[in-house]
Amino acid sequence: MKTDINYYSTNGKSESVDFRQALGKGLAPDGGLYMPDFIPQLDKKTLEGFRGKTVAEIGKTILEPWFGAFLSKEDFDGLIEDAFNFDAPLKEIESGVFIQELFHGPTFAFKDFAARIMGRLMAKLVRKEGETLHVLTATSGDTGAAVADGFHNVPGIHVWVLYPSGKVSDIQEKQFTTLGGNVTAIEVDGTFDDCQRLVKQAFVDEELNAKMTLTSANSINIGRLLPQMVYYVYAWANLTHSGKDPVFVVPSGNFGNLTAGLIASKMGLPVRRFIAANNSNKTFHDYLEEGDYKPRPSVRTLSNAMDVGDPSNFFRIFELYGRDIHSIKKSIGSYWFDDDETTRAIEEIYDATGYVMDPHTAVGYLGYKSWIDENPVDSEYPVVILATAHPAKFADVMPKAVAKAIELPDRFKAIMQKQKVATELKSGFEGFKKLLLGF
Ligand SMILES: *Cc1c(COP(=O)(O)O)cnc(C)c1O
Repeated sequence: MKTDINYYSTNGKSESVDFRQALGKGLAPDGGLYMPDFIPQLDKKTLEGFRGKTVAEIGKTILEPWFGAFLSKEDFDGLIEDAFNFDAPLKEIESGVFIQELFHGPTFAFKDFAARIMGRLMAKLVRKEGETLHVLTATSGDTGAAVADGFHNVPGIHVWVLYPSGKVSDIQEKQFTTLGGNVTAIEVDGTFDDCQRLVKQAFVDEELNAKMTLTSANSINIGRLLPQMVYYVYAWANLTHSGKDPVFVVPSGNFGNLTAGLIASKMGLPVRRFIAANNSNKTFHDYLEEGDYKPRPSVRTLSNAMDVGDPSNFFRIFELYGRDIHSIKKSIGSYWFDDDETTRAIEEIYDATGYVMDPHTAVGYLGYKSWIDENPVDSEYPVVILATAHPAKFADVMPKAVAKAIELPDRFKAIMQKQKVATELKSGFEGFKKLLLGF
């Protein structure tokens, strides 16, 4: 099948492009986000056929119309199987309430699903024969880990991870400083914003761009979004008990995860309702309440991967619902919770059920509670709370009594024992440029 989905810019000033170009550019030249000009549809029979299938099997069908035509069938199937080689199991913690554990990938967070597909796609669709594609990533923790791991050992790609010295957790630092090979970790004497500035400067530096091909893997790239649809469909296919449409609760920061769920529902996945759960960074919540989108600086919380004051996927959601807040509100409920509420929830859930949640997932659990309190009729529908990170990753900010109960995966212990290798950068952009040119 020849795919003819094209991607337009939400700012309306750049030309539409195909998937390959949208993947290579990330952001449209006019600063807008790429959105598909139509959404392929799943029929009932196809959906029913997903029951009992694996994540990879479902992924092949869901993602085929999006980028299958750019690859041979063999390459496409191989890519999906290779990328989706871990599960997304559902755990029932209360009757009809499921935690979908999205943290069984190599870096223990849901970002692995998309990063692993994206790295493989970039190598095949964006890189030209014989060239090395340099992926520059500034990170405050989770993204760098997922991107470094997802692109690790992918031929023709070199990853540069810039992270603020002393400002990421031990496990996160180990995840991108111990891979070696085609991953170079750069420890920046500064903040996350300094790292981001260095990357941005590299993208506009003429000499660098003349000598090497630079690209980014940040979360606004459509290639990071689409693969995440698959686990929503997988969850639906495994909820056979009631025949009713699920409520999905999504702990949200940049809203890429939620946007993927929304696109899956626009493809035809039956969903009762989406709940966006936020920490004190509640820009989206305030928008739904007040009707004005007011970006603001982020504030630090325990669920730090959701500390986003200007969620970049907001305009994609706006676009998906015809720029109409009433339609958005019909599909998406929203709640926010502070750190005290989050900590208490982690304790209460553990005491009541024995299940250990990381702070991001706990924010999701609180969102489910609030939704059901306000909408008791929905207690008859299955609820799926997306667990975005393994609790071991955030043990240092969790209540001690609960953190003690975390079972450390063997892979986790193995990473912690590896030797960190990072290049220290103290000399600002000139130093960074020298490193790149010395490749
Ligand atoms: C990135 C991340 C989130 C937020 O996801 P978005 O797609 O940015 O909304 C939530 N939890 C964890 C653990 C994350 O790493």
